[in-house]
Amino acid sequence: MGQVHRAEHRFRWLALGAFTLALSCSQGKQEPAARIDVDPATTRSPTAAPGTAAGVRREWEARRDPADGLGHAWLEGASDKVPSYERAQPAHFVIVYEAEGPGIAVGGSLELRVPHAFGWSVPRLTHPEMPGFVEVEAPDGVTVESGVSKEATPRPMVRFQLGGRPLAAGERVRIRYASSTDVLAERGERFWISVDGDGDGQAAALADAPQIDIVAGKATGLVAFWPATAHPGERVRLRVAALDDSGNPARGFEAPIEVNKPPGVEGPQSLPASGATQTAEYGIADEGVYQLQVRTPDGLAATTNPLLVSRSAPRIVWGDIHGHSNRSDGTGPPHDYFRYARDVAALDVAALTDHDHWGGPRRLDVDPAGWQEIRDEVQRFNEPDRFVTLLGYEWTSWLHGHRHVLYFQDDGPVLSSADPRFETPAQLWAGLRGLPALTFTHHPAGGPVATNWAFAPDPVLEPLVEIVSVAGSSESPDAPRVLHNAVAGNFVRDALDRGYRLGFVGSSDSHDGHPGCPLLEGCGLVAIQTEELTREAVFEALRARRTYASNGPRIVLEARLDEYAIGAVLPPAASRTLSIRVNAVAPISKIDLVRNGAIVETIDCERRRELRIERTVRDLASGDWLYLRIVQIDDGAAWSSPFFVE
Ligand SMILES: [Zn+2]
Ligand SMILES: [Zn+2]
Repeated sequence: MGQVHRAEHRFRWLALGAFTLALSCSQGKQEPAARIDVDPATTRSPTAAPGTAAGVRREWEARRDPADGLGHAWLEGASDKVPSYERAQPAHFVIVYEAEGPGIAVGGSLELRVPHAFGWSVPRLTHPEMPGFVEVEAPDGVTVESGVSKEATPRPMVRFQLGGRPLAAGERVRIRYASSTDVLAERGERFWISVDGDGDGQAAALADAPQIDIVAGKATGLVAFWPATAHPGERVRLRVAALDDSGNPARGFEAPIEVNKPPGVEGPQSLPASGATQTAEYGIADEGVYQLQVRTPDGLAATTNPLLVSRSAPRIVWGDIHGHSNRSDGTGPPHDYFRYARDVAALDVAALTDHDHWGGPRRLDVDPAGWQEIRDEVQRFNEPDRFVTLLGYEWTSWLHGHRHVLYFQDDGPVLSSADPRFETPAQLWAGLRGLPALTFTHHPAGGPVATNWAFAPDPVLEPLVEIVSVAGSSESPDAPRVLHNAVAGNFVRDALDRGYRLGFVGSSDSHDGHPGCPLLEGCGLVAIQTEELTREAVFEALRARRTYASNGPRIVLEARLDEYAIGAVLPPAASRTLSIRVNAVAPISKIDLVRNGAIVETIDCERRRELRIERTVRDLASGDWLYLRIVQIDDGAAWSSPFFVE
């Protein structure tokens, strides 16, 4: 009997708010890493997990016998509907399995994978009085040996090996599982049952795994967002959502929402009293910075992000381009992910990036139905000028670090890191060459698998790096809210020191079904500078690195070096003017200018929220790079993509 293998991603990140360590104080500036003169294919991430990679490969290569994955399973008392449960409540589940066809041979097995994280109890075979207790009941003559097992999956799994005599078609096995339910609302949470019918050690999942719905709680707060920028006279959309204390859209929300508008904002004074997500349009004739306040009669309230109305400022749109659904190790179906991104988080751009081979028995790389579902939802939600959705997945390499693949069209292949043909970043880029695609690496500085920077990012396919997510910042040891298990020398600043030209994005890496994480302090978002909101325009802007990253607050940032936008490659010059404009969400404590690996100036911002400053930058020589880091007094931060000198 092995140990229970816990979800590395989800358990840790749920609790992350409390663990943002003060690495920034304890570590100085890292020496620039030396260039590695070896074949990168023989190198590994400094935190590579070869054992996990081998397990994933074994599953990829596994032979599926026709006797595997047969039969039916359901929740006792709920055979023809999906039952609903309150969240975070103790519950007893009885899963009934009925064999069919050849049944299960002596030595064959059943496997149960329970939902993981956010409140579910880890299965145990001892201590019946404790949460998570699992017991099994088989027909006369069939013996069962149970074990909780360590597998290449983040879901805790219990294996029941059958003996004595075969389990014949029509015979049933009953499995009892006592657990508290998820704290997150979720449609279609699954108890996966896999069957090894012939006893060769390889099981396959049943298609109709028992599922339940977890319903949301009552409203405990509001969130309100509107765009970052607009031109005078343009109509802008306000979105308000009532959420429960876990960030789920609230159940049974019926209160009217009053809107407190500053002078010059034309539009409704109140929103209808029905439903957890509401929207209204406003018009603003004059240039300026505007915020709205919203409130319910019983005192739930929120303030929007700042909206910069300007004739000349470049348009900024907000995106979250890294998150997970129940198609891997996340929460809720892809449909609900995109609906939340649009209606609650009020994002302009969203990508769902489920793992190629991780999170349960429905691996994307071997299950065409999963990839089809994601493609369908991406297509359904894409609405140019309003909400751009991108097809993507996470190339989850346990040897070289995790990368996202984004496609800027309705279709694209899942090139799996478990597939020997796409095992290294270079092989992945070779497979993507010529497609409207790009890749970026995430939590590059650390766990679970830090980026193997020996592979130079492909200059066409990989223009970006995820500098911040809910796991923390990978910028540098002196960043606010540093990734808690960062590896010295593996930060984004170290990668720039190697001469890599990478623009910056932030994204949530949400596993809770809440892309854009509107309730969390310390998350990740990307601001994209694009006049048009279409896939083509977003693709062009991302490739040009016209982006900045935020760890949550929707700070409006414009920075130019003479006429060059952020992310640009520009010729050397004796002197250039850096123009910076910031509209922050909280008072700004400082702006750091980072040049060639070091902070060259820290501007004290005297706790102002709005700032326009200019600086002369001298002696810009070939190979130089320069970026800005804006830090609010609450550690909310934004990072501009660097300017690069040719
Ligand atoms: Zn990952
Ligand atoms: Zn991820």
